Amino acid sequence: MGFESLTGLNIWVFNVEHGLASAIRTPNGKWILIDLGSSGECNPLTDFILPSFERIGVPLYDDPDCETVLISGKCSKAPCLGFEKMHFAQLILSHPHTDHLAGIKTLCESAFPILLTSPHSNEYTNGELEMVNWEIVKEQNRNAELVEYLEEEVLPLRRPPNRPTNCDDEIDYMQVYWIPPKICEDDEELSKQNYTNNLSLLVFLKFGASSILFCGDIMPDGVKVLIDADEQFGHDVGQIKPYRPFKQILKEGIDVLVVPHHGLESGFSTDLFSTMKNPEGKVRSINIISKQSGKDVDSRYSSSDYCEGRNNLGQRSKSTTDHLLIRFPKKGERNCEVLVGNDAISYFEE
Ligand SMILES: [Zn+2]
Ligand SMILES: [Zn+2]
Repeated sequence: MGFESLTGLNIWVFNVEHGLASAIRTPNGKWILIDLGSSGECNPLTDFILPSFERIGVPLYDDPDCETVLISGKCSKAPCLGFEKMHFAQLILSHPHTDHLAGIKTLCESAFPILLTSPHSNEYTNGELEMVNWEIVKEQNRNAELVEYLEEEVLPLRRPPNRPTNCDDEIDYMQVYWIPPKICEDDEELSKQNYTNNLSLLVFLKFGASSILFCGDIMPDGVKVLIDADEQFGHDVGQIKPYRPFKQILKEGIDVLVVPHHGLESGFSTDLFSTMKNPEGKVRSINIISKQSGKDVDSRYSSSDYCEGRNNLGQRSKSTTDHLLIRFPKKGERNCEVLVGNDAISYFEE
């Protein structure tokens, strides 16, 4: 079908069996990928994204300042036009767990994002305070090799969001929230089993009147820290719009919630849902839960106590190819359209 027929903001959440992989196409055709899934049967990168990027020829990017953030390791003062790899606007890795970054090597071989955003040091706060403890991360990963790849090959050139996606004209607001790694590490509860999950970057998008929140794998205790934070934990990706506390964006309501930890019971946060309740006492959200194999999705995600409106849980559990496409065809109109399975991924095909 092709992407030409798509208008507005389009968000894919792929069925990667375990973990999360998602892709955003802005109204002008820029791409932001959030997480790259696990190495299960479905690999969205090689199955859908890269082949279609190749076919349509993802536009080369002409940001003259991007020489220090190229994933290839090459630096060039010139605009990126000379590079042969495919460019896209941004890759966000919510946290360094292998079920979210399995595709990273494949991606780096043939494409690179103009901006890579993942938990690491941050020049906007106190240097060391932000450093990830890679030893703990490796202890909490089944595939330490992949984490080493991320640490050594990718991250030295990268920082958390420190430059615009250049999508400002298309997405009204893009904020990334996170708990500074050192705070996670020093807090016994946060770090015990879940240091790596609690490093998660949470991505909030505002498109017209609609709001979308990706929660990564943050655990309930981490959510509480973000909600209660008096300090600024996170910032606007473009460094242009004022910081809005996490609690505030939740209170205003979320239209599409990509739930924490792909819907696992251990990740269900009652604080998240009670804070999201709008004045009428209802949560305005569609829960998007990436499919788990052999693990329990928390039943509270389909309960009217926590969520009203459409909920994809029933639909998804019936389907084996339940990729999702969430469409906001027109800016300013709140309604979105959700396509499931083949209807969702047909746009990647010729
Ligand atoms: Zn995960
Ligand atoms: Zn995780």
